[in-house]
Amino acid sequence: MAFRHLILDRDGVLNCEAPEGSYVREPSEFRWLPGALDALALLRRAGVRLSVATNQAGVGRGIMSLAQLAAVHEHMQREAAAHGGTLDAVLYCPHAPDEQCSCRKPAPGLIQAAVARSGIAASDTLVVGDDGRDLEAAERAGVAAALVRTGKGRRTEALLGNAAVPAYDDLRELARAILAPRPDTGQAANTNE
Ligand SMILES: [Mg+2]
Ligand SMILES: [Zn+2]
Repeated sequence: MAFRHLILDRDGVLNCEAPEGSYVREPSEFRWLPGALDALALLRRAGVRLSVATNQAGVGRGIMSLAQLAAVHEHMQREAAAHGGTLDAVLYCPHAPDEQCSCRKPAPGLIQAAVARSGIAASDTLVVGDDGRDLEAAERAGVAAALVRTGKGRRTEALLGNAAVPAYDDLRELARAILAPRPDTGQAANTNE
């Protein structure tokens, strides 16, 4: 389970979601969730590639412009990099739900594109989301998925019942779990550093 590439949903995983039906339209409205910046830095230091894949239908609905979305993402990338958690790729779907595109999650297009761009096998990749759409997109792209209990995560977990994907309280807990040395590999007995 040594993942070399994480494909992260944005709203509800990295930052606080805007209220239902509204969108993060300005950099000043982008608020990191507790521990998210630390998690990105931990993962980056461990050599994990970091992609973001996010539905941003506010563009297709005419509520925000592509330039506004780009400004939000520049801000996000600058703050992540300043904290040691540089993001390798930020992919978004700008389409409204009724446009029937192939990239809006739960369609698999964004996940497939993130995998293709990374040069890392799908089998070494993990999708992290808070919504059933993230998990479905991962499944359709043939990539493993994990849930965080931030954003819509608790609600999603309750809806899933026992239909198991691994779930973590937040991105920091997930990062620690996937980076922890595994006791059954024998490496734990070999620490000379
Ligand atoms: Mg989300
Ligand atoms: Zn799309």
